[in-house]
Parts: sequence; C-alpha cells; structure tokens
Amino acid sequence: MAVKVITDSIKSISVWMGISIHVWIVAEEDGVTLVDTGLSFMTSSILKEIDRMNAGPLKRILLTHGHSDHVGGLKKLLRTHDVPVYMHAKEIPYAEGDLAYPGKERAYAHVEKGLLQPLPVTAGKNGELAAIGALIPYFTPGHSPGHTVYYHDKERVLLAGDMLNAKSGRIIPARFTPDPEMAMRSGSDILRRLDPERMEVCHGGTVFRPAGQLDDLEEGLKQAREAEARLQARKDSKKRRH
Ligand SMILES: [Zn+2]
Ligand SMILES: [Zn+2]
Repeated sequence: MAVKVITDSIKSISVWMGISIHVWIVAEEDGVTLVDTGLSFMTSSILKEIDRMNAGPLKRILLTHGHSDHVGGLKKLLRTHDVPVYMHAKEIPYAEGDLAYPGKERAYAHVEKGLLQPLPVTAGKNGELAAIGALIPYFTPGHSPGHTVYYHDKERVLLAGDMLNAKSGRIIPARFTPDPEMAMRSGSDILRRLDPERMEVCHGGTVFRPAGQLDDLEEGLKQAREAEARLQARKDSKKRRH
C-alpha cells in the first residue's frame, strides 16, 4: 500500500494489482471526504490514513462510478462509519444491478440497494451537480454511463477516476471502456474547461497539466483511426477481387 501527498489537503492511497488502484482522501472543514473506495482489503489502510491525516472523522464518500475496483471497500467502510455515499443518479441503476453495464451481458449488483444517494443538483434550470465541500462533481460519461469526476477548485486537482488512464505521467485512453470515443470527448472537454494543475487517475497516478497533452494525444488517436481505416479498406478490396 502506498500513500502519496498530493497537496495540502489531498492524499492518495494505492495498491498495485498488475495495474495501480488509487483512492483519494480530502481534508475538508468538517472532516474527511473519501473519493472511491478501492478493493475491500484496502479499507483498514484507508481508515488508518484518515486518522493520521488528523483532519477529523470520515464524513462522506463520493464515487466516480460503480465498477468493483471503485466500490469494493464500501460495505466494509460502512460497517464502522455511517456516512452518506454519493454517486451520479445515472450510474446508480447499473451499480445496484437493475441495468447491465454497456458491453456486459448481465446486470450485476456491485452495491447493495439503499446505500447510494444521487449527487445533489443545483437549483438552476441546467441542474448542474452541486459542490460537496471543496469538490465540484462533473458528469463525464463514456467509461460508464454515469461516470463523474471531482474537481478541487482551490488546489486545482482533478480526481478523475477512470475517465482516462495514465502511464509514466502521460494520459492514455481508459481501458475496459465500452464507449472510448465518448470517454475521450468527456475527458478532453473537461480538461480544456478546467485546465487543472494536476489530474489524478485511478489507474496510473498523476498527470501534471493534462490539458497540455491533449493535442498530441488526439492527433495520435486520429492517426491510429486513419491507419485502421486504410487497413480495412485494403482488406475489403481484396475480398471484392476474390
Ligand atoms: Zn471503471
Ligand atoms: Zn477502475
């Protein structure tokens, strides 16, 4: 288990399971917010680190989405900490097993019913997601139908879940993603809009000034798509000739 100081008020806790899995603890005025819960065996380390942070008790849990590597510790955490758990309203039926995640044949309950609350929305007519403490949630579908990232505006850190992945400080497209184009669009839109100082992803860690990487990344993906289209065209014309 590795603990990393991100900023004055944010730390990450991670394990390596062939890929890294990160969760984040954020010191707030009234206590601590946990973003994602990782796998259940991470729970005691998470709670120990919250104690060590000396910023008060765990107050709430925010979830980026309902995949098992993000909600795996929830049940154990709630056994000793009766705190509200928030997730985007669109994600809840998938997490609770009423709907099958896109690309999956069967619905599966990753979270017991009755534990999740929809992220509150603001009163305005656009119904934007309301800030919770220092974190502002943003809806970023693609990796999952209700995927949400959390932005620490004051410290300019984006806690990005699986919206994108990273490798050695570079953004890479999110793996295990049924709609990679939508995920990429969500990612580049929010990074250009917020221009965070750093992005923290669940699988891959830190990316500094991620918006500055987008042009290169998009160009690379475009070239890969074009190469694939050329290959397909060649295959098709060969088929026609035979
Ligand atoms: Zn995921
Ligand atoms: Zn994940």
